Amino acid sequence: MEIRLKPDDPMLGLPMTDAYLRWALQAVEEVAGDKGMRVILRQAGLEHLIGNYPPNQMVFTGHTFKEYADLNRAILEFYGRAGASFVRRIGRLSARRSIEEQDRLFGLGRLALKLMSTNVQLKMGLISMAHGFKTLYKEAGVEVDHRVEEHEDHFTYSIVHCPCCAGMEADRPICGMWLGALYEGGLYITGGKVFEYREIACRALGDPACVFWISKTPVSG
Ligand SMILES: [Zn+2]
Repeated sequence: MEIRLKPDDPMLGLPMTDAYLRWALQAVEEVAGDKGMRVILRQAGLEHLIGNYPPNQMVFTGHTFKEYADLNRAILEFYGRAGASFVRRIGRLSARRSIEEQDRLFGLGRLALKLMSTNVQLKMGLISMAHGFKTLYKEAGVEVDHRVEEHEDHFTYSIVHCPCCAGMEADRPICGMWLGALYEGGLYITGGKVFEYREIACRALGDPACVFWISKTPVSG
């Protein structure tokens, strides 16, 4: 995969919370090991984060989308063909931490959800996730566009303000971290059901938003 830089992309300067960046770094370390993580961070130009992860706090202290995008690019380049599945795992592990630690933004109360159909659970989960991101960024004075649409046999989750592909052009979608995050969120919200997830549009391809396709029918679980 070839990734070219687009340094004038206004997304690069958007703020990233300490916790999101920390969870992504912890996930990289968990999957790649300490040594692999150091290589990836050097390749990403993020040496300053080696042994110096941001604290576990949902606040904005100066980290940006650019760091997240650089991390994503370094993983995709470092792992070559295996990069896509690697970033999905990073997305899953990051989301798991997010779900465990930040229920305030994304939690819907699983008790209430238990009474709903799987489809409604999934839909509510996706809407809750979009709402969580918008609320979080609104507190920082930034309007981000996350939206959920329902179609006959699938949902779409669209993100204009995507940190994974900020400042990049590529020949295929590169935001697999979201696929992992959506997968993990879907598991959580439906009590273990697995759906099909695909990235069908990506800003790195010139699309106006990164769009994720989510089947309404579980493939297992
Ligand atoms: Zn993206």
